[in-house]
Amino acid sequence: MNNKPLIIANWKCNPTTSKEAEHLFVAIKKEIRNIKDAEVVICPPFVYLDLIKDDFTKGGQNCYCENRGAYTGEISPLMLKNLACQYVIIGHSERRKYFQETDEIINRKVKTALKTRLRPVLCVGERVGDEMGLVVREQIEKDLAGIAAARVREVIVAYEPVWAIGTGLPCSSDEAMRAALFIRKTLTKLYDRPIAEKVKILYGGSVTSQNAVDYIKGAMMNGLLVGQASLNATEFVKIVLKINEL
Ligand code: PEP
Repeated sequence: MNNKPLIIANWKCNPTTSKEAEHLFVAIKKEIRNIKDAEVVICPPFVYLDLIKDDFTKGGQNCYCENRGAYTGEISPLMLKNLACQYVIIGHSERRKYFQETDEIINRKVKTALKTRLRPVLCVGERVGDEMGLVVREQIEKDLAGIAAARVREVIVAYEPVWAIGTGLPCSSDEAMRAALFIRKTLTKLYDRPIAEKVKILYGGSVTSQNAVDYIKGAMMNGLLVGQASLNATEFVKIVLKINEL
């Protein structure tokens, strides 16, 4: 596993045409193809996965918890793997909120993704008014239940405070650092310190080219999960280049 900062673009349910998706991908790829000190992953909507090509690292934004069967409308980890995905976002707060995803279903998704050799990007984070520690500890304990120490290092934990997602109200780097330390402490309790040290922790929530560096340098995050800003090629490229130069 390398130690390069990991920057994941989550395009969510955008853009609405494959032409625009291709345009966005090409605009990003052109500017960052020579970077050496950061790793970039694009997670487009499923229908655009094939447009992310030329060995560019990609991932799904969600998956089902079974690899095949009578589950109308679902996309399985194995299908993502067969489309050359290496990562899959699981448990994003929008899925928890709008699709009633529970920790139990998220745990099953993480397990199936790991079995399929996809790296799960497990999203955790508190809502406004919640105590970060209480919520994040419970999510991590439930979402990683039954996952062996040997496999957990393949999981990436994305700390995404719900109040910072898409709001333009990013978490301060001090708060993000507190969350990163807390997540590592929780993983140490569940597994052990050497294993906890190997798990990558990302920050997500209103990341821009103005604040991106703070989370890596100031908050000891191992990378970023970028939503809105990843839909603007110029802004996303700026984020990647700044991190690559650190
Ligand atoms: C996200 O949804 O994962 C996210 C971080 O969104 P945004 O960057 O738009 O806040």
